[in-house]
Amino acid sequence: MFELKTNAEKYSSDIADEIRLFTAFESDISVELSVSDFLRCRVEFDGEVREYSQKAPEGDELTVKRLTKRFLKLSVYSALSSRYGDLPWGSLTGVRPTKLAYEWLKRNEGSGLQKYLTETFFVSEKKARTLSEIISAQSPYIRDLENSVNLYVHVPFCDGRCSYCSFPSADINKNAALIDDYVSCLCTEIRSVKEIIAAEGRDILSIYVGGGTPSALSEEHIAKILRAIDVGGREFTFEAGRADSITKSKLRVIKEGGANRICINPQTLNDATLAAIGRRHTAEQFYKAYDEAQNAGFIINTDIIAGLTGETFDDFRRTADGIYALHPHNVTVHTLSRKRGSELQEQQLHCADIEKMSEYAYDAFTKTYRPYYLYRQKNMLGNLENIGFSLAGYECVNNITVMEELVPVYACGAGSISKKITNGVITRHASPKDVRLYIEEFGERFRRKSEFFRG
Ligand code: SF4
Repeated sequence: MFELKTNAEKYSSDIADEIRLFTAFESDISVELSVSDFLRCRVEFDGEVREYSQKAPEGDELTVKRLTKRFLKLSVYSALSSRYGDLPWGSLTGVRPTKLAYEWLKRNEGSGLQKYLTETFFVSEKKARTLSEIISAQSPYIRDLENSVNLYVHVPFCDGRCSYCSFPSADINKNAALIDDYVSCLCTEIRSVKEIIAAEGRDILSIYVGGGTPSALSEEHIAKILRAIDVGGREFTFEAGRADSITKSKLRVIKEGGANRICINPQTLNDATLAAIGRRHTAEQFYKAYDEAQNAGFIINTDIIAGLTGETFDDFRRTADGIYALHPHNVTVHTLSRKRGSELQEQQLHCADIEKMSEYAYDAFTKTYRPYYLYRQKNMLGNLENIGFSLAGYECVNNITVMEELVPVYACGAGSISKKITNGVITRHASPKDVRLYIEEFGERFRRKSEFFRG
């Protein structure tokens, strides 16, 4: 906890976000801004005073605001890092590093990105290099996508809830009586959305059935949803996150239904941790499910998490090594974060070895894989990041285009969020998270959603 006093009221939440990067800082801090021909910032904390200045920015109101905010954040970062040390992503908060990189490359015709990141935002050399690698891995996929959309289908049910989870998901057992109706509404919505996409003359670039744990549904329900989707010849991912939800016959239904990619996510291969975080499966069940998915011919993604509560560096290393030995097509290495709506929300997360874990994973996976997408969230351990690694040629187009907000998302199901992009401006439409409400108000809500798509 800290107390912030500032005269730069309209930037106070940005300044507070910057201070929060320094988790060890718990004190009073004053940040004063004065504006003339120069911007001046005076930062005072724990009896220390630091002063920074630069020429006042010029341009339209938005530009001046953006650059003044940046100056304040850099001032606070410089002051606090002089006491607590530099951070891997420097002063960056609230912005996707790749977005910043693409904006820079557009303005500067592809040169000097790493220098820009390290010198302007104090991003570490290693993270700046990672970002460059990602930009280069994404380049074959950043093409003319004017007419493309992604179709997303949400299945908001899981068997229990993982401690770190913030996704819209309800207990499948407690909601058993609603599943039939939910699947019926969902299928109607999928068919109607496909009609809208076809009427607009757009092309579906990729399909993603996520959740929740879609594979927690029965074979009949899964088959019904896949029949409603029925779009062949595209990248088509089906999330079968938890190994305890996977059977050979479900995998067959999923494959026959058109999916060519599957996510099986152990998060850790340590049984004690799996039990502690509320995942109702063991490492052995994960290995079995993985084997069956591989035999069924899927492209496989696995997710693991660094910094899970109670895990040591050796626990994490064993997980990373175990996954590496399996040689999945894609691996996403997450850093534990304290998300709103999760059990961890109120807890103070700590993991002394988080940077070591992250570096280990990066060095281990880049022996064979290359990083191809990256995103950061608030309240991540060590202010680190989530990185997707892929074998060359197996990059998940959905992950790239969703993360980089390159194409509209036509989303179906309770708790799903559709996105439209008009002249670079993104607008969103959210469906109700509550499954009962989604079913009860389906007709009227879908009418409004259709207007959103068509508007
Ligand atoms: S399986 Fe996934 S969606 Fe379900 S509770 Fe766990 S993290 Fe959340």
